[in-house]
Amino acid sequence: QKHKRVVNFSAGPSKLPDSVLQRAQEEMLNFRETGSSVMELSHRGKTFKSVISEAEKLTRQLLNVPDNFRILFMQGGGCGQFAAVPLNLAGSPGATVDYIVTGRWSESAAKEAEKYCQVRKVHAPKPHASDSSDSEDSEEEWWSELSENAAYVYMCDNETVDGVEFKCPPRTPPGVPLVADMSSNMMSRPIDFSKYGLVFAGAQKNLGPAGVTVVIVREDLMDGRALPFCPSVLSYHVTSRNDSLYNTPPTFSIYVTGLVMQWVRDSGGVARMQELSREKSSLLYNLIENSQGFYYCPVDKSCRSRMNIVFRLSGGEALEKRFAEEAAKQGLTNLEGHRSIGGLRASLYNAVTIADTRTLASFMRDFAKRVAQ
Ligand code: PLP
Repeated sequence: QKHKRVVNFSAGPSKLPDSVLQRAQEEMLNFRETGSSVMELSHRGKTFKSVISEAEKLTRQLLNVPDNFRILFMQGGGCGQFAAVPLNLAGSPGATVDYIVTGRWSESAAKEAEKYCQVRKVHAPKPHASDSSDSEDSEEEWWSELSENAAYVYMCDNETVDGVEFKCPPRTPPGVPLVADMSSNMMSRPIDFSKYGLVFAGAQKNLGPAGVTVVIVREDLMDGRALPFCPSVLSYHVTSRNDSLYNTPPTFSIYVTGLVMQWVRDSGGVARMQELSREKSSLLYNLIENSQGFYYCPVDKSCRSRMNIVFRLSGGEALEKRFAEEAAKQGLTNLEGHRSIGGLRASLYNAVTIADTRTLASFMRDFAKRVAQ
């Protein structure tokens, strides 16, 4: 029991596909006939350069990234980007920037940006909900809230803590680039790059191990917008010019991220991940809705996340604690909500399978039945 692999529903670092971990294990001591672990290779050597360029190519291919966007591998995680975005894109110190606040992470990003910019917070009652053509009215609402003189508009595509996700990006005023934190949903659906100037994601949820942050940025935004005191390690321009090898990168994380990309490709690509994410999340949301109030979801139906299913037990906190403890005993781990809001949360990133989700669903049904007795 001690060594049995659990189903990890953590919000991050999260479950990685077994086949990826096995491959990393097989290659651990002798990577591509070098007689070294990939962790021991020079980041400037031929072998590692092929690792990083394969990871980049796969990212480009899987997400259909246009040629005028650069893919950067950076460090500092999502929080590093909270600083990097204003430092690189503000144009001048104190510039006006718009932050759409939909939860904890966009709030944190806005707070960081306040060190460098005049931040205007746009408090969305709920993220832009509709991805159908009858959404024109709400698009116009967004349009009028965002200022035309902002250096950029910032949003968090999926709020990991709150369980809130945009269905499609808001329309920004002409010429104002949209920046999106996709830390917890990148690779779970296609991205329409014509709508964004920059997207980024810390790897440790859907992409790989912690340590590397993927930044996809439109080339023209790397010219002339950085603040003079932007540190070199956070500079998009410096990182791009050095092919993400300005300083020693997190080589092992980049390698495993590349393996995860291969796994996504071999599993049917991003479109397949999108189908699976809909199926997995619907399974849990339907169960919650049909539980006669035993479980409930505090998030408005129009903006519920496919990645982080936030839910509560109407029986109260003590029962929630028991739920998480009993689930963990059955190998379903990390179902507690974020420490700041409590409750429960099941994260269904790409590596969590339909079978894993069904196991959780049957535990949830069984738990409800047992408590009712
Ligand atoms: N943005 C989102 C949406 C997140 O979920 C997280 C972490 O959970 C972060 C940013 C912060 O990322 P990091 O811990 O890599 O700095």
